[in-house]
Amino acid sequence: MKNFSGYLQIYTGEGKGKTTSSVGLCLRALFRGLKIAFFQFFKPGDSGEIKALQKCFPQNFYYKNYFEKGFVKGEINSSLKKLIIEGWEEVKEVIKSQKFHIVVLDEFTYTLKWKILELNKVVEFLKNKPNNVEIIITGRDAPDELIKIADLVTEMKKIKHYFDKGIKAREGIEK
Ligand code: ATP
Ligand code: MG
Repeated sequence: MKNFSGYLQIYTGEGKGKTTSSVGLCLRALFRGLKIAFFQFFKPGDSGEIKALQKCFPQNFYYKNYFEKGFVKGEINSSLKKLIIEGWEEVKEVIKSQKFHIVVLDEFTYTLKWKILELNKVVEFLKNKPNNVEIIITGRDAPDELIKIADLVTEMKKIKHYFDKGIKAREGIEK
């Protein structure tokens, strides 16, 4: 972890490519021997890319997700809320431990959009994160306050998405 400078990156927007960008970066980093903690919110954790990274890099790729069966977008019951609030405490400990070069918070923006976590507290924590930990946050509607403190922000702009034609997530392409 010495000699590693970590920045705060955000991949947001309506277009495809946020999660896969973060996974591409993980692949690149893992080959170079960097350690990664990948936390995924509101996702069941059975996507192909997660399975692949777990299988190929069991030593340096740590994964945990915060999800409940039956979860519907925007409808957060109290047990999922509790899971996420406690999860964030866990994530903060992992970041502070400086055991991982990169910490990915996939679909994290929704914890803020749906007001499960307090934006000002999250911003305060991230502003003071250890300098040698890179944090990557993905998800739509990244709040301005988060964008302001980030070092890199990429917006995936939707020009077209076949989801609008009714084509749901396909195995191998979206999951
Ligand atoms: P990828 O994982 O392919 O990089 P992403 O991380 O940019 O994509 P997410 O916002 O996480 O995309 O989208 C997850 C899934 O939501 C997509 O695979 C798609 O099936 C679905 N989706 C895409 N557009 C919409 C939409 N406008 N409304 C609801 N769901 C959508
Ligand atoms: Mg995604």
